[in-house]
Amino acid sequence: MSDTKTALITGANKGLGYQIAAGLGVRGYRIAVGARDEARGEAAVKTLHAAGVDAFTVPLDVTSDRSVTEAAELISHQGGRLDVLVNNAGISGPTGPGWAQDPTTLDLDVVRAVVDTNVYGVIRVTNAMLPLLRRSPAPRIVNVSSSVGSLAWQTDPTIEVGPIMAAYSPTKSYLNAVTVHYARQLAGTSILINAACPGLVATDFTGGLGRPAEEAAATPIRLATLPDDGPTGTFSNDDGTIPW
Ligand code: NAP
Repeated sequence: MSDTKTALITGANKGLGYQIAAGLGVRGYRIAVGARDEARGEAAVKTLHAAGVDAFTVPLDVTSDRSVTEAAELISHQGGRLDVLVNNAGISGPTGPGWAQDPTTLDLDVVRAVVDTNVYGVIRVTNAMLPLLRRSPAPRIVNVSSSVGSLAWQTDPTIEVGPIMAAYSPTKSYLNAVTVHYARQLAGTSILINAACPGLVATDFTGGLGRPAEEAAATPIRLATLPDDGPTGTFSNDDGTIPW
């Protein structure tokens, strides 16, 4: 088995996921580019190769049991173990003016779709990859969350929390809670699992509003490369731990 560490990033064909992939790639990780559209994944791999990064495409739709199972099989054949999993793929669901999602008029099908990707997708991928992660001496799992998932901040009248996004924001609270329970279950193993808040990032997700994705990748990359005595079950941004 090779000494090169392998990192799978879901939704790595663009946006924040791509920059996390690129950042881990320049740190010497072999990058498994998770992409639900194989052609978009191949295009990202080509760009990573041009930047000198060792990368391969992993067709991966986080909402599909079959796709996730096949992705785990592909990574298994590509080296037999996984050292880092970054659960980055996410969707907001349709928004109204100013990105608002009004809880009083929410379409439950929208809620189901956003939960399916942002929460069930993370559980589906994590559990499929755990056997491969357990083969690593120092497995790291990063769940890309958001400040909008912080119930403490959402209920703090002194903090500007942005529009009400009643489908999207609760999925990140749910994801945070799931992260805590994985950390509890995996306590005492070498697996560290933490939630990252990247801040507002200029991607297609925000219509280009926010800071560069390259800069926002710093916290996910820090959590993906934690030392063995690093934390688990935390929620943090570039400034450190933030409230749940
Ligand atoms: P983005 O540019 O829209 O990229 C989202 C990525 O997720 C794309 O690669 C997309 O693939 C992929 N994806 C969506 N559904 C998927 C599925 N079912 N299976 C596999 N991949 C799927 O958004 P982003 O800003 O980079 O967001 C990345 C993560 O950061 C998300 O979890 C988001 O909630 C979180 N976040 C973003 C911000 C922000 O300000 N941008 C702030 C806080 C947290 P396609 O290209 O095929 O659509």
